[in-house]
Amino acid sequence: MENSRLQQVLDSSRLPSLPAAAIRIIELVQQPDVTVTELADAIAVDPALTSKVLKTANSPLYAQSRSISRLRDAVMLLGLRTMKTLALGFSLIDQLKMQGQAGFDHKRFWEQSLYAATAARTIAKRSGLPDPEEAFLGGLLQGLGVLACQQALGTEYVAVYNAASGDTTRLAELERAAFGFDHVTAATALAGRWNFPESLAACLIHASEPEKAPAATRQVVQSVAAGCRVAEVFIGEGDPEAVEMYRLACQSWFRMDTEQADAMLQDIDADARVMRTVLELPGGSVLSAGEILSRANEALALLTLQAEADNARLERERDQFSIQASSDPLTGVANRREFERVLDQQLRLARRYGFRVSIAMLDLDHFKRLNDTFGHQAGDEVLRQAAAVVRQNVRASDTVARYGGEEFVIVMPNTSLGGAASLANRVRAALDAHIVEFEGRDIFVTMSVGVAVYDPRSGASATELVGAADAALYEAKHAGRNAVRLGRVQATAA
Ligand code: GH3
Ligand code: MG
Ligand code: MG
Repeated sequence: MENSRLQQVLDSSRLPSLPAAAIRIIELVQQPDVTVTELADAIAVDPALTSKVLKTANSPLYAQSRSISRLRDAVMLLGLRTMKTLALGFSLIDQLKMQGQAGFDHKRFWEQSLYAATAARTIAKRSGLPDPEEAFLGGLLQGLGVLACQQALGTEYVAVYNAASGDTTRLAELERAAFGFDHVTAATALAGRWNFPESLAACLIHASEPEKAPAATRQVVQSVAAGCRVAEVFIGEGDPEAVEMYRLACQSWFRMDTEQADAMLQDIDADARVMRTVLELPGGSVLSAGEILSRANEALALLTLQAEADNARLERERDQFSIQASSDPLTGVANRREFERVLDQQLRLARRYGFRVSIAMLDLDHFKRLNDTFGHQAGDEVLRQAAAVVRQNVRASDTVARYGGEEFVIVMPNTSLGGAASLANRVRAALDAHIVEFEGRDIFVTMSVGVAVYDPRSGASATELVGAADAALYEAKHAGRNAVRLGRVQATAA
């Protein structure tokens, strides 16, 4: 290791050494055939750990009719998989929640971690991940690099940490300038030294850039990254923008309305309170979800009043200059301007929450010929029906827009390239099977489609994303039309 300051972090006597129980549990959880008895025995060695496991099994999170007093029963109830993760987390947390350095807001740090963890677990559950507890543990420990640095480097580090005021990208830059390495490097080294399981290590290392995580762990890391953003809602204590972003994200990713998103926030809060008690974490000063939402709603109501005043003014201007509304008059789908607004908003969400956004560019085949053969009126009717076919075959959270003449575009939030390709193909096949009847004649029309996915860490622009879909569309045309092709986004400024 060439960096002596990093070595200082790793060698620091102030850094926790792992207790025997934790080392044993790390070893056990990585054995696929570990038994209930083996795990229960490893937990039993540590009385504090035992008590946390029993408290969890009896908490409302795993509500039971009878109370659980034996470790083996707790392991059976929670399931081996859940238990593996919890035992590892619980055995580490006691070592890590020691006092922070002067000036380091220790309480805040653990509050952030706790909310990130419970939110990550909730999001992982919603996304159907097989082991939501992995996301919980990842969220709880994603700040391990920072924790180790402040512990080993002391006030010099704390000054750097505080200067970044919660912006992790900025923090890493400041750390590299001051110490020659950043907290991600420290976390990577620690995860290796402590032999952490792969998914936990990935959460520690990639939480701020989930797209960089190895494929096998990416979804867990994404849940943790999104959990960290949700934690901002709690830490921000009703910051209306954080609440708005959260609601918008719930709508885009999980198709939740505001009521459902708010209810999920209440659940996360309740879970966090239970886990704070179980893990005996410092904190407890965060406002409740109810208080946060009512503060945000108040602020948002004020903003709405302002917006209404602005809108009234805009409407007057609109009458004067007849600015187009958001939909295309011929087909009823969104217009180009609305597409640009939606795409911009979705890319902002993708960067913030670390999910992907795909788009598909659709172009009707030989439309000039169709116009020439059947007339412009028929062409317009085909455009209307093609738009309707597209709309019927996408999901409620997707946006269909008319991009230009006989070109359409679909924005698909939280969708991989593969998912987008199969949706595009469904739309293509539906139009292929559709017959437009116009003045007693049957008109057949097909489309070519180019698909591209936005990777939030690529630094690509909306223009580059559209360009990639367009290039793929061109390929589909060359391949003989009535086809779907996938594009690659070329980012110039990564
Ligand atoms: P390709 O398969 O390569 O896409 O062939 P194409 O003929 O569809 O391609 P091109 O882009 O050269 O032609 C598009 C035509 O679509 C040009 C124009 O006549 C027609 N078009 C554009 N907007 C409208 C519209 O609003 N209504 C009608 N009826 N036709 C339109
Ligand atoms: Mg065209
Ligand atoms: Mg065309």
